Amino acid sequence: MKKWNGGMPRLEDLLRVEVDDCGEPLDELWHGPVDADGASSALHRLKAEYLLHDMQRFFERKGIWVRETVAEKLYATNIVCRSQRPKWQLFVTYGFRTLEIQERYFQSAQHNVRIKAREEHIKLTEREIVQEAHRRCADPRVAGHPTGGAVDVTIWDMERNKAVDMGGEIYDFGPKSFFSCADLTDTQRRNRSYLRRLMMCVGFAPFDGEWWHFSFGDREWAWYNHAVSFYGPLQTSEVPRSVRTPSTGSCAQLVRRAQDWRKKV
Ligand SMILES: [Zn+2]
Repeated sequence: MKKWNGGMPRLEDLLRVEVDDCGEPLDELWHGPVDADGASSALHRLKAEYLLHDMQRFFERKGIWVRETVAEKLYATNIVCRSQRPKWQLFVTYGFRTLEIQERYFQSAQHNVRIKAREEHIKLTEREIVQEAHRRCADPRVAGHPTGGAVDVTIWDMERNKAVDMGGEIYDFGPKSFFSCADLTDTQRRNRSYLRRLMMCVGFAPFDGEWWHFSFGDREWAWYNHAVSFYGPLQTSEVPRSVRTPSTGSCAQLVRRAQDWRKKV
């Protein structure tokens, strides 16, 4: 992963990214890799819980779904985090979102842009409306969450039983959502940087507009890495709605891989 020096892609940049979906399925994010005996090791347990409720009616359970490799990377990120800060664990708050829900949000963002332009007597072309709406909510053609490659994460302090102070709540879309927001304490800045280092060391790309959003394999990730995107948006019919048995025996392998990554954080 190259060092990221800031900047955000425009809609046109993302539309130019080539997508060649590798066909990897979605998997329910469990609380950690499962050992051969079927038990999820307490040491490796991460917190995964939807904080937004828009996907709850879609799946049978409240679990968070992501592409298989994304799940593995999150487990490994959590192992690195827990080995360095034993009282902390990764808290994943969002993963896959259906295209239909993304489309609904985007329509609503376009509607709001039209109203604001009318109120301010500004004439916008359809293209400008789409571009402006994309700044508020990702255009479904390029959005990360419908690919199963994007996640929203923060860090949970298990001792204090609350999220680590990142300066601004997750999903607070005000000025504090920007990673480099000026109005932060040293601790908040350090915590945000630590989360970013953790996620980037396993290969996720950050998003400067939302300190909690990271992605792997989607168009945004490909734009940052000058690569081809290998996770395209999934059609709802392709998505399993019921629980699958987590793969076993991956624990030791993940711990080994996490040891290599840990050196980079
Ligand atoms: Zn997100």
